[in-house]
Amino acid sequence: MVWLAVMCVGAGVALLLWGERARRNAGLPAGRVVGRDMAGRCEQTSSPLLVAAHLGLSGRPDYVVRVGRAEVPVEVKPHRRAGRPYESDMIQLMAYCLLLEETTGMPPPYGTLVYAHARWDVPYTPESRREVLSVVAEARAALGAPDVPRSHNHPARCRACQVRHACDEALA
Ligand code: SF4
Repeated sequence: MVWLAVMCVGAGVALLLWGERARRNAGLPAGRVVGRDMAGRCEQTSSPLLVAAHLGLSGRPDYVVRVGRAEVPVEVKPHRRAGRPYESDMIQLMAYCLLLEETTGMPPPYGTLVYAHARWDVPYTPESRREVLSVVAEARAALGAPDVPRSHNHPARCRACQVRHACDEALA
């Protein structure tokens, strides 16, 4: 009976170590994973859809990790290689921070962005919050506009853009 207990404890420790290594390999911050949305990448969706209806905003981060009392969003771009985060990814990540603040009542201290070989903990600040709200307002206004001019000068952003084929302002 003792050997069975020892084996169970051993298996439990091995699982914990494996889980910790998997977490570090995924670039996640230290903390408990409370939500995960890797539906397009073979895992089951379990991350809740975050909705702030009064802001007209919703989204589902790849992971939500509890760090202390706050919940931190993690966005993973496994095929993206860059020396610094894309502006669009930063906005997306900050939007998730805003959604977590609205849905949990606790602002995350940061959001985590993971690329193929890099990872950033991006602070969530009152300025980030204002910027997200301003982008949402711009997007809403653009929906009713007949034409929308390009708002940046980043060729890399256009190269990665999913609507490039339909855009006549794309940069080379
Ligand atoms: S391709 Fe067009 S829509 Fe896409 S990022 Fe560039 S300017 Fe914007």
